[in-house]
Amino acid sequence: MTDLNRRGLMYVLSSPSGAGKTTITKALLKNNDNLQISISATTRPRRAGEVHGQDYFFVDHNAFRDMVDNGEMLEHAKVFDNYYGTPRAPVEKALAEGKDIIFDIDWQGTQQLFELAAEDLVRVFILPPSRAALEKRLRERSRTTLESEEQIRGRMDKAADEMSHYTEYDYIIINSDIEAAITQAQTILSAERFKRRRLNGLSDFVRGLKEGL
Ligand code: 5GP
Repeated sequence: MTDLNRRGLMYVLSSPSGAGKTTITKALLKNNDNLQISISATTRPRRAGEVHGQDYFFVDHNAFRDMVDNGEMLEHAKVFDNYYGTPRAPVEKALAEGKDIIFDIDWQGTQQLFELAAEDLVRVFILPPSRAALEKRLRERSRTTLESEEQIRGRMDKAADEMSHYTEYDYIIINSDIEAAITQAQTILSAERFKRRRLNGLSDFVRGLKEGL
């Protein structure tokens, strides 16, 4: 759709940790010039390899609370023992410029965005192919993120909670093959861009077509 003005969409990817969400997000960002990621703020300590302003804005509890109190968060939630939130300004700017935005947020944040902007929201939930696969991925990842056995167990327990919210999503991807999952996530994004309600310039365009007949 190059000729028509289009409203940006909000593409939410949620999943239990270890289901491949980060890999899929990175691939979508690489393959879509018009797509931008929403960088969350969090009170969680930085993990090895994470970069402030790129993976998250790492802030302390007071700074996080100030952002919430000042209305600077579009949504926020407590996940595990930490707070996470979506800064409002970059999202509003991107949407105004007709860009699409991808959010890596949990079900609580997704519900809040739905209340704010249901029309603009595309909700995608990623499931692991099996419990064993999820556990394997969490354990592999813990080697680089230096998570403890207790933290891994905590994530396994939380995975069940997170997964129980799959019915609140529009699309489900079962990630048994990462390349296939990336293709599916891309297909959803591509199709959603053609939704009639997002095409602001459509009525003028069709009027022009009819006038020429
Ligand atoms: P992690 O600590 O592994 O980076 O993220 C833990 C969980 O927090 C993930 O499920 C992730 O989707 C969620 N999360 C990250 N940023 C946000 C946010 O801004 N808002 C909400 N509601 N959840 C978030």
